[in-house]
Amino acid sequence: MFQIAFVAHDRKKDEMVNFVTAYEHVFHGHKLYSTGTTGQRIMAQTKLDIHRFMSGPLGGDQQIGALVAQNELDLIIFLRDPLMAQPHEPDITALLRICDVQGIPVATNIATAEILVKALDRGDFAWRELAHKYKPAGEELK
Ligand code: PGA
Repeated sequence: MFQIAFVAHDRKKDEMVNFVTAYEHVFHGHKLYSTGTTGQRIMAQTKLDIHRFMSGPLGGDQQIGALVAQNELDLIIFLRDPLMAQPHEPDITALLRICDVQGIPVATNIATAEILVKALDRGDFAWRELAHKYKPAGEELK
């Protein structure tokens, strides 16, 4: 079981719902997280149980980022809108940065999301179990 988070900006929410619905069988059985509205939309359309954080602009991205910082997320599907400025741009940048710090797979568009979910389905995420085991959160200093 892996820990997966979903975030979709408003004009990407339909795409996210369609994507998660198509791969519901893959996501089933994993521990799922999301920002507020994204999770609400996905749960209305699927049978998945998702722990919803706050809405992105109100701090949800930062809550997900906190899990990444603690090495507690294995995959993030983050369908962002590249054509519209977001009020919480600093939080978005921070989330992507902390994913790079921790080396967490993060898809920011549907093409990458497809590849990563297929990798998840194939079992290519087994290395994350080792990452949990050998890189406990909070033990490294810069
Ligand atoms: P939301 O947040 O899922 O609550 O809409 C995502 C965002 O827009 O950052």
